[in-house]
Amino acid sequence: MKRGFIRINRDLCKGCGLCITACPKQSIKMSESLNIKGYHPAEYTEDEKSEDRTCTGCALCAIMCPDVAIEVFRG
Ligand code: SF4
Ligand code: SF4
Repeated sequence: MKRGFIRINRDLCKGCGLCITACPKQSIKMSESLNIKGYHPAEYTEDEKSEDRTCTGCALCAIMCPDVAIEVFRG
């Protein structure tokens, strides 16, 4: 299984949740804290113990993000 990870720029995020809906691995959730714009931003939540929730680097989240707040890394 391919491995990847993402980095979300929390201060660019407007908390729309599109990336959360798009992720087939449920590796993204809403943060409980607020960003500088006053939104609850998305945050990466990879659970290392669960193969089912390991980011594959598929980039669906980054493609969906209207604010280009997500960078995807593979390898
Ligand atoms: S790259 Fe794919 S698997 Fe990884 S967090 Fe984004 S949508 Fe989920
Ligand atoms: S799609 Fe982009 S703006 Fe929307 S919650 Fe995800 S990171 Fe934030």
